[in-house]
Order: sequence, then structure tokens, then C-alpha cells
Amino acid sequence: MAQLPEQLHLLPEPLLAWYGGAKRVLPWRDAPTAYHVWVSEIMLQQTRVSAVLPYYRRFLAALPDVEALAAEEEGALMKLWEGLGYYNRARNLQKAARLIVTEHGGRFPDTYEALLALPGIGEYTAGAIASIAFGRRVPAVDGNVLRVLARVTGDEGDILDGRVKARFREWLQTVLPVDRPGDFNQALMELGATVCLPNGAPRCGDCPLGALCRASADEGWRRLPVKRAKKERRVEERTVFVLLSPAGLALRRRGPSGLLAGLWELPNVEGTLDEDRAARQLDAWDLDAVEWIKQLTGKHIFTHVEWQMRGYVLRVRCGGSADLCWTDADRLGERAVPAAFGKFLKEGLELLEEKGTVEGS
Ligand code: SF4
Repeated sequence: MAQLPEQLHLLPEPLLAWYGGAKRVLPWRDAPTAYHVWVSEIMLQQTRVSAVLPYYRRFLAALPDVEALAAEEEGALMKLWEGLGYYNRARNLQKAARLIVTEHGGRFPDTYEALLALPGIGEYTAGAIASIAFGRRVPAVDGNVLRVLARVTGDEGDILDGRVKARFREWLQTVLPVDRPGDFNQALMELGATVCLPNGAPRCGDCPLGALCRASADEGWRRLPVKRAKKERRVEERTVFVLLSPAGLALRRRGPSGLLAGLWELPNVEGTLDEDRAARQLDAWDLDAVEWIKQLTGKHIFTHVEWQMRGYVLRVRCGGSADLCWTDADRLGERAVPAAFGKFLKEGLELLEEKGTVEGS
């Protein structure tokens, strides 16, 4: 093991003392069962605490335990997840819930290794559940923790490099307190989220680790943590069709794999089509346009891809290819349509709800 920086020996005491008074009141902290910790941690991946809170409450109200999650119908689960994005997280939650029910008798596995074997649970989440819900002495290393440790120790390794992360994990494993591993892990995360901030100046004057920290004295936090440049996002152009007929708005089911797998979407094709090409696309779907209403543009950013979209809003006669599903306003509420289509869907819904807007075929 790489030599343990001396300041890490001194870290637990001031950190835990600070956490007792500074921790935010959060619903999953009231009753930190494995299910609560798990659902919150999965929701918090890629999403801020303030944004997660209403989704967490709604999810727990509908699916209060692992059995309820395992039994939920997929469409209803996607609807509960709608707005959080990254729908595979919800699918993996359910896969894992079903395994817990069928292979563990409905009881959460209580070791780091058994948790890690469940779908969608990586090192960080397994460490968080094992330490917070079961008091196991294992670290939970997320981006907040990496940032705090890099700054406190002055470590200039690239925190996106797996070897650097493994080094930090080993160090934490050595200093984790026997009696409060869950609080220790949460305290480090909380410090990163509220004091040792990622963007802009950290609040070193309020930090319990100020006396130990290598990065506080000379504004070393400006260069720490070191991160290699991220790969640029791929840009994809798409043309989205908001198609209204007397039978409703056209939706289509996405394929079973890849981005937004299995979700409902507005019909769309690759590329930015001008009106002539868009009309030919309607022919290909066996649709007759009644009225071209408007064009609009939109953009949506996923982790690795950016969609730049042109949208056509138009009335058509009923029919069209078999994969188009004409949906009225009531049924739209039951279908999870990803936020990427939000701007276009809103246009469609407004027109759908205007009486007499949609002409007969
Ligand atoms: S002293 Fe400043 S840089 Fe160091 S851990 Fe605390 S907030 Fe971060």
C-alpha cells in the first residue's frame, strides 16, 4: 500500500465532531435502512440533493419496500422515475430488488461483497449501504470524497484514474473508525458537498480539516483535485415530429437496448431535415399532412451525447405505420417520455388539449 499521509490519521476526530452539528436533515437519514440508503444513493448519481428530494418522497410513498419495488409494473416504475433521467438506474433497481426477493428471501444482503454482486450497485453504493445501514467498516468513495482527500493530502494523482481511486480507498480503509464507519463516510461526502466545494472557492474558514489540509494554505485547491480533460461529447442532429391526428399524438416505443431503451418517444429520425425531406419522411410512415403548424428547435445533453433537434409540429390524417401509437392526453400521463422531448411534447399537449384543433380525417 502507498504510504498513508500523516494527516489522514488525524482526520476522523474533527470530521466526526463537525458532522454531528453540520449534517443536513435528509429523509433517508431519518431511518437509514438499506432500502432507503440504496434508493437515495441511486437517485443521487448524477442528480443534486435538492432535485432528488421530491422524487425520493414520491418513490417511497409508492414503493415503500423492496417487495413493492420488485412487484411494480415496468411502465409505472418508469413513470415514477420520469424527470430523473438515466432510466437504466431504475431498471437495475428493480432487477436487484427481484434478486433480493427471490435469492435472499426479501432481506437485503448485509456485506459489501454481496451488495456489490447486485445489478447497478458499484463499489461506492455497496460501501455506502454496507457502512451506513449495516455498520460495516468499508469506505464509500464518490467524487466529493476524492476531492476532499486530494486536497487534504495534496495528492496530485488524476482522480479519474482507477489506481488513484484505489489508493484513496486503501487509505480510508486504514483510518475508518470501527464504531462509526457510516457516519465517517457520510461526513466526508457532506464536507465535499457543503464546504470543500467543487466549483469556486471552498469554505476553508468553516472547514474542520483546515489545520490538516495541504491545499488550504497556498490556495492549492485551485489545482486540486487533478482531473484529466474529459472526452468531448458527440453531437447528434435529430428531427422530431409532433404529429397530431384525431386519434391523438403519435408516440413510438424505443428499442430494447441503447440510449433511453424501451421508453416512449416522439417519432424522430437522424439528421436535420428540411421541409421537403420531412415531407418524404411522412410518406415513408404512410402519413398525409393536413397542416404544417410550426417548426421549433431544441437541445438535450446526455452524459456522452448532445442532441440538437429540429421539430415539426403538424396535423396529419389517422393511420401511418404500425409502430406509431396514437395517444390521447389522459393516456399520455401514464407513459414515461424522456425529458429530451419535453419541449416538443409540451407543444403537442397544448394543441391536443385545445378543443377542435385536430381536424377529422
Ligand atoms: S481546508 Fe479547504 S481545501 Fe482543505 S478540505 Fe477544507 S475546505 Fe477543502
